[in-house]
Amino acid sequence: MNIPYGKQYIDDEDIAEVVTVLKSDFLTTGPAVKNFEQAVADYTGARFAAAVSNGTAALHAACYAAGIGPGDEVITTPVTFAASANCVLYCGGKPVFADIKKDTYNIDPEDIRRKITSRTKAIIAVHYAGQPCEMDDIHKIANEHNLLVIEDAAHALGADYKGKKIGTVSDMSTFSFHPVKHITTGEGGMITTDDKELYQKLLLFRSHGITRDEAFMSENEGGWYYQQLTLGYNYRITDIQCALGISQMKKLDQFVARRRKLAQRYEDELNKIDGITCPLQKEGCTSSWHLYVIQTPKGRRREIYNKLRAAGIQVNVHYIPVYKHPYYQKHGYDSVCCPQAEELYENIISLPLYYSLQDEQQEYVIQTLKKII
Ligand SMILES: *Cc1c(COP(=O)(O)O)cnc(C)c1O
Repeated sequence: MNIPYGKQYIDDEDIAEVVTVLKSDFLTTGPAVKNFEQAVADYTGARFAAAVSNGTAALHAACYAAGIGPGDEVITTPVTFAASANCVLYCGGKPVFADIKKDTYNIDPEDIRRKITSRTKAIIAVHYAGQPCEMDDIHKIANEHNLLVIEDAAHALGADYKGKKIGTVSDMSTFSFHPVKHITTGEGGMITTDDKELYQKLLLFRSHGITRDEAFMSENEGGWYYQQLTLGYNYRITDIQCALGISQMKKLDQFVARRRKLAQRYEDELNKIDGITCPLQKEGCTSSWHLYVIQTPKGRRREIYNKLRAAGIQVNVHYIPVYKHPYYQKHGYDSVCCPQAEELYENIISLPLYYSLQDEQQEYVIQTLKKII
């Protein structure tokens, strides 16, 4: 038995779509990029979508478009992948960590309020495991203090917040298409926004800061002419990847539905085991279930983790609080402490959760856990 914690699902249709692009005129920045952006914009309901090379590039681009620079502080959660905070550092800004709520494991709006200073410029909310953050409360704070809100929605493609799809709720939302996420392009990312100015900044940033659009150029010397207006990067995604993305988007609802079903079964079965805490399913929003994270009995995480691994169940831990990493410790974060995040980290394990996880495999995970505990 070997069951990973997450895994992509690729079918013959996906493969055929990629092959079609390989035989076409464009390998990169052709029609597939636009069509993939349109598919994500249509799905989420966002006005604009800009595809980039990965989810980290999406976060970097969003921070750039938000105008984050030296001296600016951006508040985010420590219970996330490092990229949610690193993107602020890329822009010369300072990530400030607000603690999580005990029930949802998402950033605590009250702690955001406490961490605001005159330098705070934005909030990066991460929908941990696919469960939407308390966006109404976060927007209220943002409006009071004139802050931009970016959602790191790498876990939340397909999730709903109060009847709206994640991707339209804030100034910008970023997605990742790494193979463990809901849909994959191998590597890939996207930023959605309703704001045309932000969108135009994102497009510049992903391709060297270069434009050919007359509306933005100070002069035009001829058909060959273009101008570099800012310092951008090559964060472009290929048509090959986007062909896969378009094909995967057609299956997204099916992917999310299966994840929800698996999560419900975990909850039904694991709630019966003494000592295990299942994630809260909050009313008013629907998680897209990127991860299924349980809390194990205090002091037993290492043992349970090792035994599950020995049984061929490749469980994982999401996440080590970002500021605990040596890089952050060495760069001024050694006195930072978010008690709820640290307590959660001590006890969590992510169980296998992905579209093609079979009922028998899930049963094996549940029975193995029962035996261990
Ligand atoms: C996966 C992930 C990212 C980074 O995405 P990549 O495509 O791997 O660069 C950022 N934030 C969170 C929360 C993620 O899970």
